[in-house]
Amino acid sequence: MRSKSRSVSKDMQLGPRPRKIFCNVFERVQTCILTVTKMELELPEVRRRSIRRREVFIVVLLVVLFSTAAFLIGYFAMKAEKNAVICRPGNGGDNNGNKTKPTLPSSKEKYHDMFQEEVQAKNLEENLRFITLEPHMAGSRRQRELAEHIAEKWRVYGFDKVEMPEYIVPLSLPQEDKPNKVEVFVNGTKSLTILGKLKAKSEPTAKKAFDYFPYFAYSPNGTVEGKLVYINKGSKDDIDLLLNRTNVSLTNKIVIGRGIHAQTDYAVELGAVGALIFPDVHSSRPNGTYPYSSKVSGDAVFERPEAANFGDPLTRGLPSTKGMYRGPNNLTVFAAVPTQPISYNDAVELLSHLQSNLVPKEWQTELNVSFRNATGLTSSDTTVRLSVNNVVETKSIYNVIGTIYGLEEPDRYVLIGSHRDAWFLGAADPSSGTAALLEISRAVSGMLREGWRPRRTLKFCSWGAEEFGLIGSIEWVEQNQEILSDRGVVYLNTDVAVGGNYVLITQNCPLLSTAIFDWAKKVKDPNAYGNKTSLYDIMVDRMPSSSNPSEPYVVPYLFLSDYFPFYLYLGIPSADFSYFYGRNMELYPVYHTQEDNFYWMKTFIDPKFEFHEAVTKFEGGLLIELSDTPILPFDVTRYANALLAGYKSLPKEMHNESLPTEYIQKAIYNFMEASHAFERAKSKLNPDTTDPLRIRMVNDQMVQIEKAFISSSMLSDLFLSSHLFSRTAFPFPGVLQAHKNGKGNINEVKKQMSLVVEAISSAAEILKPLPT
Ligand SMILES: [Zn+2]
Repeated sequence: MRSKSRSVSKDMQLGPRPRKIFCNVFERVQTCILTVTKMELELPEVRRRSIRRREVFIVVLLVVLFSTAAFLIGYFAMKAEKNAVICRPGNGGDNNGNKTKPTLPSSKEKYHDMFQEEVQAKNLEENLRFITLEPHMAGSRRQRELAEHIAEKWRVYGFDKVEMPEYIVPLSLPQEDKPNKVEVFVNGTKSLTILGKLKAKSEPTAKKAFDYFPYFAYSPNGTVEGKLVYINKGSKDDIDLLLNRTNVSLTNKIVIGRGIHAQTDYAVELGAVGALIFPDVHSSRPNGTYPYSSKVSGDAVFERPEAANFGDPLTRGLPSTKGMYRGPNNLTVFAAVPTQPISYNDAVELLSHLQSNLVPKEWQTELNVSFRNATGLTSSDTTVRLSVNNVVETKSIYNVIGTIYGLEEPDRYVLIGSHRDAWFLGAADPSSGTAALLEISRAVSGMLREGWRPRRTLKFCSWGAEEFGLIGSIEWVEQNQEILSDRGVVYLNTDVAVGGNYVLITQNCPLLSTAIFDWAKKVKDPNAYGNKTSLYDIMVDRMPSSSNPSEPYVVPYLFLSDYFPFYLYLGIPSADFSYFYGRNMELYPVYHTQEDNFYWMKTFIDPKFEFHEAVTKFEGGLLIELSDTPILPFDVTRYANALLAGYKSLPKEMHNESLPTEYIQKAIYNFMEASHAFERAKSKLNPDTTDPLRIRMVNDQMVQIEKAFISSSMLSDLFLSSHLFSRTAFPFPGVLQAHKNGKGNINEVKKQMSLVVEAISSAAEILKPLPT
């Protein structure tokens, strides 16, 4: 495995050496001289004599040309330094080496306007309809067809390079001829079978129905039998409450839990041998659920991975390409006991007939069924048998990577990505994201035809097998990690672009907040009312930050998606955007079920596809800004503020005398000072007059500070997670993990704190002014 140690040593603080940017004027003069020499060598002998007299003239001419060239180079080099002339086709330059006009703000605006006008709701609707025609799970035939469809589009759009990297990976899949099943026996006689094979349609009136095999990936195989115990959401509190109220034991029981977030770990620790999970149903109204409303129906079953396998576990640190070393199969992680999803209606069937006490009020759902606790079950003669027949199959998965090379900084990458694989039809997750990615790429292709080229290289990425553990993006990052670490400037992700119509939610690193907010102010929100018109206004209105209610709340990477390897492993500034379903970041109800289809999206969430359009215009506009603006719109003072807020949120008991927390605080204050000085100096730069190399250096400094936080020594239970400051809901994850694990091992906590101090100090050093 590759060493991930990336702590920044003093002589590395300049970052990668900026590549020299030649103006085309220099290259054209040089090319002309070589052409003259070549022409002469190719002349026939008879003509040589006749032109000998001219040789003297040519030599003189060459001398003149060299002198002129030298003069021009000197002149333009000085001029370039003074005016930072950027050569840009379609932007005022010509092919004769004439002086190119500086990039005018109006031209930049022109392309932004063009993009915003080009994005159309009807295209997004058509994209989504096409992508969701058939199930497209990772490893399936349809999954490859969609990859080829996207690759073909990008070729037609005139992208410079389109690749479809293949990875050969183990996927845990259901067996179609041997579906999983749950059987109920009363006094030894089978009374009910719940089969893990259903029929599902893309819309209620569709003629064609697809087979749907509900299962949890990475549930182990096996048949287990036992009495059933309802554990609500399976948290420690839930189970402790159950044990306190009843005399039930979980040993050799099959537990049944409620909701997409239901856990089984603690129940298994207490002896449970199997688990069933069903979705929460939130409406008791007649016709209150799908297909009459956006709420999930009693027939829906959701899928998810039951164990965390990030990337291909057999090729840790290496891409799963042909011929690559593979570890033994037992490296794949499985859940501890067989686990199977069932529908709410089937769960009611299992639970409501029990004769026992009612469960606590908060354990009930909103339907008119009273759930009862486990005491009745343990005394009845009803047993449940769960048979899980999942198999691990080696499958090919595909990413699609489309590249548009940047004109001035081709070695700086601005990436945008969305995964393509769905558990079933996956309209919201992830096809809304793929629809947006396709529409952004189409609109950008129109700009290319009009003569636009980004300053930096753009990479469009469609990932495979995200649902199985971010496999496509992790394998690609493992394959390209050195180059991405060096060249990656920013990664924008959209997974569920539209999962609802309540509010846009952004997960991002602090560096990007200002740029994101600025763009959110420029795009109209379909929920606009009164003087609250932009995405930003509605974000502030509906989900303000608790520390600063005049700004939107930024979610700290709570919903894992393909930004993970870019940000938390490589330290490339990243963000993820999603239009959300409800208050308090409520997940959309049909999440990961067979009801997440085109009909659901079109009927209940986004009939006019205006939310799709808003997210696409926002993300695409931001992408163009990040790929084209000479000075990256990153804000390092926000990083300082976030560090301070993170420091203040550390558990109180950590601020005791034996722990060196004051060093973290001191480092943050130093960083804060450096960040303010840096932003002050940056604000004086003028892209039209500042030396492009100086701008490049400033950009590198900003990008580099994220990398200072990447450390292979960070304590983490999550593969690849190496970012000392950010992970999910909590800052300084290594420190908190050591504190949680430690309980007495104070040295590990101290070590993790020291890593943080060192990272913040390095980041501050990176920002310090350099001689110019
Ligand atoms: Zn997804």
